This record gives sequence, structure tokens and C-alpha cells, in this order.
Amino acid sequence: MNVVTAQIDKQALIHNIKTIKQLVPHSKIVAVVKANGYGHGLYLTASTLDPYADAFAAARLSEAISLRERGIKKPIILLEGFYEPSDVPLLAKYNLETAVHDFEQVEAIEQAELADPIRCWMKIDIGMHRLGAAPDEVNEMKLRLEQCANVRKPLGLISHLSVADTPSEYPYNEAQIDYFFKIARNFSGDLCLANSAGILRWPKSHTAWVRPGIILYGISPFDGKVGSDFGLQPVMTLKSYLIAVRKVKRGAKVGYGAAWTAPRDTVIGIVATGYGDGYPRSAPNGTPVWVNGRIVPTAGHVCMDMLFVDLGPGAQDKVGDKAVLWGKEVPVELVAERCGTIPYELVCRIMPRVNVETV
Ligand SMILES: *Cc1c(COP(=O)(O)O)cnc(C)c1O
Repeated sequence: MNVVTAQIDKQALIHNIKTIKQLVPHSKIVAVVKANGYGHGLYLTASTLDPYADAFAAARLSEAISLRERGIKKPIILLEGFYEPSDVPLLAKYNLETAVHDFEQVEAIEQAELADPIRCWMKIDIGMHRLGAAPDEVNEMKLRLEQCANVRKPLGLISHLSVADTPSEYPYNEAQIDYFFKIARNFSGDLCLANSAGILRWPKSHTAWVRPGIILYGISPFDGKVGSDFGLQPVMTLKSYLIAVRKVKRGAKVGYGAAWTAPRDTVIGIVATGYGDGYPRSAPNGTPVWVNGRIVPTAGHVCMDMLFVDLGPGAQDKVGDKAVLWGKEVPVELVAERCGTIPYELVCRIMPRVNVETV
């Protein structure tokens, strides 16, 4: 029997990419499916999006190869490039595109013996200070890549916004976009800049290619908002059920560490989901869970395989009744906010023992 299920709504995924296309009618869409499709299933999400996406993006060579081996034929871009010189022939073999962010990678491409050139996106640092050519490296990197026979021409230009989701950093975001376009003046190839937050909030950042990740899955990249605020539909519903229902007296100390004390006589439900399934241990008392058509608060520390909810005095809920941890009934953004994290982390962390079901 399936105790915890991540239900993946393929129609919601399709609705979301269609919604994105309306926001960026002049851009091609690189659907970001790294980290197992943000926990929604790598092949499941890529194959569902395949008729609508123009390309896919992965973070690991293994993810990209797995997509090719399962029959995905659209372009696949490695957002961080490759990590070992021995990976370069694999890029050629599997027809993968790569970001190039440093001179080690440039050298590895120069040194490789390839039958055909590979498509490269030169990555520049516009303010994140994570990956990419620094301002004083841009010209040399561009020159070397353009002179390299292993690089298909024209060379693409790619970068990543660091504060597109942070309204208080408005001027810093503007500066990043302006700098990107300044460098882009010397490039004849394709440009790729906007992530989800850029797509939703910064029309200026829309270039020939955009790279939505989290909004494909129906989730808001902004604190204090949910996907439906942007016409998006949640793709994942994490659901389970009650495996025990028990009455407790006022003052009863519930769970490990006695982290919750019943403020009144009440009924406690035990939901068969814990951090061993990917539900965050950091969820504090009061985190919302859906049971039988209403929201009830968690009570006490989340366990490895279970968590407690306060069903309330006189509750009639029974063993076997459905519980939804997040999804249409409880936005994952609200759970993440309670836990002091971002919804990206919660959906990515779904554990292998969770059953995946599509609708
Ligand atoms: C993960 C990632 C994205 C997608 O970001 P979202 O906020 O999920 O849209 C885009 N570009 C790069 C380089 C990334 O690493």
C-alpha cells in the first residue's frame, strides 16, 4: 500500500508552461528540470513538457544523459557546464549544450578531440559572484571560445539574476540586467537571462531564451505570494492519511522532546508522513495540514515516519482519512514560510520511498 504519495498533475504542468508562453511570447523556453524536476520526476516532467518546451536545462551531466537515454531529443543545456575534462566527449556524444564559466572549462574544450563542435553558452558573472567570467575576463574568454574549432558558432551568452525575487534590491537587479545587455552588444549569438522571477517581474530581462524553473511547477518564486497569484497551478500534491486518532487530555505532552502541550482536551491525529519522506523536521507547531476538508495545525516535532496534527476537541476524523501535506489544498509556499525555508527546498527533498502517481 502506498503510504505517502506525490501526486503529479501533468495538466497543471502543461497549463503552467502555456501560461509562461503568454508572458514571454517572443522568447524560447528552456524548461529547467534539474534536481529530479524539482522533485517532480526528471523524465516525467521533461516528457510532459516536451511538446511545449524549446529546450531543457539540467545541472548534472548524469541528468542530461538520462534524458537522452530515455528519448528526449530537444536541446539540453548544462547550466553549470561540466566538471571534468573527460566529460567533454560525452557532451558531443549525447549532443548536449554547455554553459562555460571559467578558463578550466575553456581549456578542456580546446584540448578535446571532437568530431563535431558543441554548442556553448558563455556564462558571465553579472552580480551573483557564483559562476561566470568576471568583467576583466569577458573579452579573453569570448575570444578563445570563438577561435576554438570545438565550439559551434555563434557563441551564446548566458547569465543568472541574483535578486530578481527580492523587491528591496530593485536597483541592484536593474544594474545586473543593464550590465548583461552591455556585454551582449558584442555577441551575435543567442542570449539567455531570465529565471522565474525575471519572467514574472522583469520584462526587461526577457531575451531570446528564458529559463523558468519553479513556476513550471506552479510555485511562486516570491516570498509572500503563491503560484495562483500568477495564474499558476500547483503540480505536486503530497498526500498521506491518518494511521491513528487518539484523545488526549489538556496538559498532555505530545511527541519527542514534549515540544507541544495540549492547551485543552483534544483529539490528535497521527499522519503517516515524516522527514524520512521529505516533510521538513523544522516544521514548527501550527504548520498547516489539510485533513477532511479543513486546515489543522501540526503539533510537536515531526518524526521520521509520522507527524502529529491537532484535530480539535470532538473531532470525528478516522484512521484512513486523507491528509494533504501540500498541494492544491495547502500551498507549499505557506508550509515553506512556516519552516523558514523556500518551497524549492521542500519539493526537491521528496525522498525515494515516496510513491509517485500521475493524474
Ligand atoms: C535553477 C536555475 C534556474 C531556474 O530558476 P527558477 O528560480 O527556479 O526559475 C535558472 N537558471 C539557473 C542558472 C539555475 O541554476
